[in-house]
Amino acid sequence: MISLLVEFLRKRGRRYLLYLGVAVPAALCHNLLHEAVHYIGAIVFGEGVTAFRFLTNGWGTSQVVFSMPVEQRVGGHWLVVAWAPSIVTTLLGYGLYAARSVAGRHPVSRYAWLYAGFFFLLLDPFYMSLLSLAVGGDVEAAAAVGLPVWPVQAVAAAVLLFNVRLFTRWQKEVQEARVATEEMQPGAHGGG
Ligand SMILES: [Zn+2]
Repeated sequence: MISLLVEFLRKRGRRYLLYLGVAVPAALCHNLLHEAVHYIGAIVFGEGVTAFRFLTNGWGTSQVVFSMPVEQRVGGHWLVVAWAPSIVTTLLGYGLYAARSVAGRHPVSRYAWLYAGFFFLLLDPFYMSLLSLAVGGDVEAAAAVGLPVWPVQAVAAAVLLFNVRLFTRWQKEVQEARVATEEMQPGAHGGG
């Protein structure tokens, strides 16, 4: 009985470690890309950048610090600088979903692809909608054109809802494929 439990944990543990090995780089990639697009946006529009903090902004968060103080930012280009990162990452999430067959048939690569999709489909819509209610952040750029923040949060919430449904469907698809693969393997049911 105990040996069965150990065996189960060993197998499962290895699998979770593998997933973690995918999830961490995917989350880092997402974060780096988000901040890089802020940075590139600022450069393109000739806005100064005083710091590029990657994971060093407290609680492991990142931030590109612009020379112009928030309250002095005026003009539509600030919307691009602030929102392009979330748009780019989320579009990449749709790209990952659309190209999910690239992951092949192996359950591990399928799950790896799914994990990357998790961050790219959900993180920024969550940040721009629900999380922004608590921490503000990129949504506040709306003030640069005299707009309130809530329409941005509402649109982000709609995107989040859509993406959660998309991700759930994708997750189910990967799970069903895994079960089908396991059933195909001889002796998978262990009966004997
Ligand atoms: Zn941002």
